[in-house]
Amino acid sequence: MYKYLFKILLLFSLALLYATPLLAQDIYTVESVPNPKDTDGGWVSDPNNYLNETNKLELNRIVTAIENKSTAQIAIVIVPSIGEEVPKSFAVDLFEHWGIGQPKKDNGLLILTVMDQRRTEFEVGYGLEPILTDALSYRIASQELVPHFKNGNYGLGLLAGVERIQQVLDNPEVISEIYDEGLQVEFPRRTNPIWFILFTYFGIFLFVAYHYFSKLKKINKNKDDFYDKFIDLYGIKHWIYMIIFPLPFLLIRWLFISSRLKRYRNHKRFSKINGQEMFKKSEEADNAFLKRGQIVEEELKSVDYDVWVTNNEEDVLVLSYKKPFTKYSTCPKCNYKTYHRAHSKVVRSATRASTGLRVEIYKCKNCDYSTTRNITIPKITSSSSSSGGSSYGGGSSFGGSSFGGGSSGGGGAGVSW
Ligand SMILES: [Zn+2]
Repeated sequence: MYKYLFKILLLFSLALLYATPLLAQDIYTVESVPNPKDTDGGWVSDPNNYLNETNKLELNRIVTAIENKSTAQIAIVIVPSIGEEVPKSFAVDLFEHWGIGQPKKDNGLLILTVMDQRRTEFEVGYGLEPILTDALSYRIASQELVPHFKNGNYGLGLLAGVERIQQVLDNPEVISEIYDEGLQVEFPRRTNPIWFILFTYFGIFLFVAYHYFSKLKKINKNKDDFYDKFIDLYGIKHWIYMIIFPLPFLLIRWLFISSRLKRYRNHKRFSKINGQEMFKKSEEADNAFLKRGQIVEEELKSVDYDVWVTNNEEDVLVLSYKKPFTKYSTCPKCNYKTYHRAHSKVVRSATRASTGLRVEIYKCKNCDYSTTRNITIPKITSSSSSSGGSSYGGGSSFGGSSFGGGSSGGGGAGVSW
């Protein structure tokens, strides 16, 4: 029984394996879109035959006429799918790949239609942008192409669009007519990326803030001693949150965390030995209860100490609070935070030929511990200049049998239909 099931599964997966390339055949990449200059010498790439021959001939006739008159080149591409690619960036890449337009003039236009995404992009070269602006491209696409496309007449839509472009190039006064046509302005359905980014940013902020506040809540709720609460709250890597969302978290730190830390630090205490209330000694009075090293630490401001005592001085509690910014580190000998780099001197400078030497002297301000560290300064190296920089087209023209080698200006417009 299971043997059959296994065989069926095997056959099924084999069938799937063979079918996948067949299914994927209709997904085009920039490289796999047939270049019409290589196939029939025309301007239309329609590998899956969405357009009829009459429309194709007519499109080729108009685009050739445009090129003869103005040298501008128009490539028309209609493909079933480009997979998950974004039509706009696909259009930019295909434009560059084919080099549409004359190299010096960059007067190319690519009209890319992606059927499964119901999207048409006008990709306009720099040279054409002053005439065929983004707004005008959008007008022509939505006024001429979209109505026909919605009815499945792709050839007619493209013809109407290309005829409009021909009129514009022949006689720029037509532009005002196009704007006067008074069709209601239809904005692209795609949402503005700014809103998308803001929305995502806000979503992440809510998530991070929730995470942050649940940490605070957990610390506040636990049964730990107020000293432990302080250390836990202090130990949260607040700076990470401040880097991600500087403004809100700086504000939270300033308004909220500081006061809470203060509250934890000064909260009423009772002795764990005799249950009596403890009182915090002032900064001057607490020295009597501190060791010499601790007093040095306080003087150097590397550690702060709070001393709590009961009235009868039966219980003395010394709590240490590390200061955030200090040049002092823990001394290897006496273990107080009183160790620091006292001197740093370059004994020998580095040259191109040899390394240099720096001597650093570390001293402890509490005990007599001192060490010297020799640090090698690396040789001076001359930074080698990197060659490179990619270049497009390079002005190499392929004559009449290929696109000129122009590059895209990144301008244009797209419409969904
Ligand atoms: Zn020391």
